Amino acid sequence: MMAPQFLTLLGATGTIGCNTLEVVALHPGRYRIFALTAHRNVEKLAQQCLRFAPRFAVVADAADADRLRALLDVAGTRSGTEILHGPEALCQVASAPETAIVMAAIVGAAGLAPTLAAARAGKRVLLANKEALVMSGALLMDAVRASGAVLLPVDSEHNAVFQSLPHHAAPGLSAAGVSRITLTASGGPFLRRPLSELAQVTPEEACKHPNWVMGRKISVDSATMMNKGLELIEACWLFEASPEQVDIVIHPESIIHSMVAYVDGSVIAQLGCPDMRTPIAHALAFPERIASGVAALDLAAVGALHFQALDLQRFPAVSLAYRAIRTGGTAPAILNAANEVAVAAFLERRMRFDQIPGLIGNVMDALPSGRVATLEDVLEADARGRASAAALIVKQAF
Ligand code: NAD
Ligand code: MG
Repeated sequence: MMAPQFLTLLGATGTIGCNTLEVVALHPGRYRIFALTAHRNVEKLAQQCLRFAPRFAVVADAADADRLRALLDVAGTRSGTEILHGPEALCQVASAPETAIVMAAIVGAAGLAPTLAAARAGKRVLLANKEALVMSGALLMDAVRASGAVLLPVDSEHNAVFQSLPHHAAPGLSAAGVSRITLTASGGPFLRRPLSELAQVTPEEACKHPNWVMGRKISVDSATMMNKGLELIEACWLFEASPEQVDIVIHPESIIHSMVAYVDGSVIAQLGCPDMRTPIAHALAFPERIASGVAALDLAAVGALHFQALDLQRFPAVSLAYRAIRTGGTAPAILNAANEVAVAAFLERRMRFDQIPGLIGNVMDALPSGRVATLEDVLEADARGRASAAALIVKQAF
């Protein structure tokens, strides 16, 4: 039997983080936890530390570190977990020599630096944090190539595409005989809602996804379908595809997770119950297969699978993403920053749901795309995108 591999879990207390720990718990001889990180949910992190006894736990700041220490001391079984805090500590546990695998499951731009640190350190990086790749596609992919890191997609669509591509072929889609990549999209909670009602939808309605249980930010992204826009950009970077090679089809049942069409007319798809433990287990063990705890797919019980074309008038966020990836440079980072600010404002009831795409479009109009040569270029574009979006929300000028 092989020695257990050590895993750093960035964003341990989120939905992807918790699902990852459930898969890891099924394979105690195979995986051990090196580090768990969280932002503010210290109570959940304390429970996870007691159960998985990581070498390190990382929280946002010194006050949260004290709270975590107190919780673990009360429990009396600290198992030697050392508590760190702050963004630097995230990079430290993501690149430490003792860890082999890094699950990047922080939400949003906050995950960029530690994900890049893991890639630069040559880790096996399991990528859920799509915003990191959207912001810094060229940098992250270059870091992976330079260090020999292995980047495996956890996002269910990209994991499905990865599984449907031949792994023996030369790099490049055309060398592999691929003609198109088709990402499936459930359409989210508002697929059939009259457009005139979108102005009234609440954060609670937007976060109630028909098929998946997810964090609040990605749930709102799924409702606007900016999530599919971010995934389009993610697919272009991961698979070296042009935006013209990636299309999107609505598939409300979320059973086909995505597909790859070949020049001979074959289409290879990956199917399964909509449960993130499947792509997580796949990425953890690739090229082997391990149990994930997910129920077997019962197609007779599902009955029928449906498909329909994407309506860009209903979901203008997707057009913004096509525009950003075609523009290139810092445009995707600006798109992502404006979206993060808009989604946060909607969740705090400072703007309406139907205003989100318009705001992002105005920020993209206002800010020219620049060159991406360093992480600083990306962070600067992110800061400008955030400031512009925040100013427009204050003025309600969009
Ligand atoms: P979530 O909101 O449930 O969890 C986010 C995690 O990130 C938490 O552990 C939180 O503590 C941490 N975090 C938040 N802000 C932070 C900060 N500033 N610094 C450090 N840590 C911070 O989100 P989720 O649904 O688990 O999604 C995580 C990522 O995975 C997102 O990028 C999302 O797009 C992607 N993803 C999620 C799903 C899903 O089904 N949930 C599917 C595909 C991709
Ligand atoms: Mg997805």
